[in-house]
Amino acid sequence: MSLAHGRSYLAIPGPSVMPDRVLQAMHRAAPNIYTGELHVLTDSLFPDLKALARSTQHCAMYISNGHGVWEASLTNVLSRGDAVLSLVVGRFGAGWADVAARLGADVEVMDFGMETDVDNARLQARLEADTEHRIKVITTVHVDTSTGVVNDIAAMRAAIDAAGHPALLMVDCIASLGCDRFEFDAWGVDVMLTASQKGLMTPPGMAFVYFSDRAAEARKSAGMVTPYWDWAPRDEAEQFYMNFGGTAPTHHLYGLRTALDMINEEGLEAVWARHETLARAVWAAVEAWGQGGSMRLNIRDAAKRSCAITSVGMASGEADRLRAWCEEKAGLILGIGLGRDDSSAWFRIGHMGHVNANMIMGALGTIEAGLTALQIPHGEGALGAAAAVIAEA
Ligand SMILES: *Cc1c(COP(=O)(O)O)cnc(C)c1O
Repeated sequence: MSLAHGRSYLAIPGPSVMPDRVLQAMHRAAPNIYTGELHVLTDSLFPDLKALARSTQHCAMYISNGHGVWEASLTNVLSRGDAVLSLVVGRFGAGWADVAARLGADVEVMDFGMETDVDNARLQARLEADTEHRIKVITTVHVDTSTGVVNDIAAMRAAIDAAGHPALLMVDCIASLGCDRFEFDAWGVDVMLTASQKGLMTPPGMAFVYFSDRAAEARKSAGMVTPYWDWAPRDEAEQFYMNFGGTAPTHHLYGLRTALDMINEEGLEAVWARHETLARAVWAAVEAWGQGGSMRLNIRDAAKRSCAITSVGMASGEADRLRAWCEEKAGLILGIGLGRDDSSAWFRIGHMGHVNANMIMGALGTIEAGLTALQIPHGEGALGAAAAVIAEA
């Protein structure tokens, strides 16, 4: 007998669960790309994408995954040899820094480890030491999907301003947009990038670069700009073709339209509040399990935890056994440990996008069953603690 039959829950931090409504919107014959409905639909995406990031400035759409817009965002503002300060708090920030170095930028990495966020005082001191203003851009993640940490982007902007430094602030929001609060204009962000398959609940294949008026100005002297990744013709271009540099991602556009409709119907503040409550339920459960075993939350300070993904540490081998049990016996797919020396001791839970209370309680109940079946020591009361968080909300 297997208890895994039924609808599985892909609880990895991206790609996330795709709503039936999104899938149904994509299930259609090929549309005409030259005229008609698809053009109206594409134009309608720009204001909603901007509202989602609380931006009134610029947005470019690409047929790409996140790695593609890592490259696009850098090539639109840099020339070879330009200095980049990369703030690293896990695997994804490090990956973006690596792309910058391979493009020919002069990259300096400030690494803050795998257990906390960027230290903005250290950032400010580094910028104050750069009296000649050599550093052109600062790259950072909003949320690092390997550790579950969220950076305080408003405080980062304040540190840059306090140092009186003109560098552009570039933020990776692939894991966080539509999950954790993000305010492009209010937080003084210059470039933000994201992709379709996480909080945006759409299959992988589309990605987005948001940029400020200042970044648009920097693009004019950037030596790395290439034809396909150039953001200028994609920024609400009159000509539909220019938005994609070729054939539009037709079915993704229908899916994305529906995903944005769903976010608008729920309301962005309510979407953020739902993610926060469900994340707190997960944390309450992990804390209870940790009272009687090895389980622990990677990010100790709750204020520094993302509402989209939680990274959990266990004893060596335990996380691998637990993940295998949940998937094979119960249809719950948990994320692997990323960027760890011993990945068998880590797992990640994605609670991003199309996720509700019964899915989270189901996932937590499944983990509890797995811990019991595998005789992994754990504290009592985890499900009650999670239920209490949900009940209070
Ligand atoms: C998922 C993710 C990426 C990579 O996106 P791909 O679409 O897999 O290229 C980059 N940064 C962060 C923060 C992510 O969560």
